[in-house]
Amino acid sequence: MISFFKRKPVPGDIIQGDGFEVVILRTNRRKSASIKVKESYITVTVPKWARLSDIELLIAKKSDWIKKQLLRQSAVIALSQRDYTEGEKLYYRGRQLTLSLQNNSEESISIKGEQLIISTIKGKQATQSTKELISNHFKELANQELVERTERFAKMIGTTYTAIRVKQYKSRWGSCSNQGLISYNWRIIIAPDPVIDYIVIHELCHLIEHNHSPRFWSLVGQFSPNYKEQRNWLRKKGLLLVI
Ligand SMILES: [Zn+2]
Repeated sequence: MISFFKRKPVPGDIIQGDGFEVVILRTNRRKSASIKVKESYITVTVPKWARLSDIELLIAKKSDWIKKQLLRQSAVIALSQRDYTEGEKLYYRGRQLTLSLQNNSEESISIKGEQLIISTIKGKQATQSTKELISNHFKELANQELVERTERFAKMIGTTYTAIRVKQYKSRWGSCSNQGLISYNWRIIIAPDPVIDYIVIHELCHLIEHNHSPRFWSLVGQFSPNYKEQRNWLRKKGLLLVI
């Protein structure tokens, strides 16, 4: 299984900021407060005795700074503000595509070269929103790609699975059941090809090693020699895999 987050969120009080959440960490070792923004995970470390109202005030004061860090580090906020208009940039298998909206005699969506072309019938309301059209199309493509790659790598590794499922997951890229059912998050298709291959190999290797032991990682390394690079890519940029 591959989760989105390496670190589990630390339990504690949470302050709701303007479009973000801040986890409060209380410690005896500090006399002043410090804010950290790392991969869209925001913490404020404060002295044990600090008052909640004072911490809230500090977060409000630092709100612009926090947002700037979030934007710079992950661009997640910028992506969530996407409006699916002409010229917008999207990623598919690591390639940057430009959204092109056209009128045609029928509704369609296709990738041609560097363009993601969406055709709608002039004067007629589209059956789905642009975002829905894109995500449904990407889900279909993800299904084809992941089935093909899983078959290919399963032969290479010398293992067999029972079924493949491609779906929407909130917090993981893939998983493998004891019964040999492999499930993938369709958003994997936004990542570059070597990352997609790493996720497929990772799940297939779980059919042999049902854990994350050194034996498991050495097996992954046999078929994905640069797996550490791909794993880091996912940890750093995984949250950007949205359309
Ligand atoms: Zn795993």
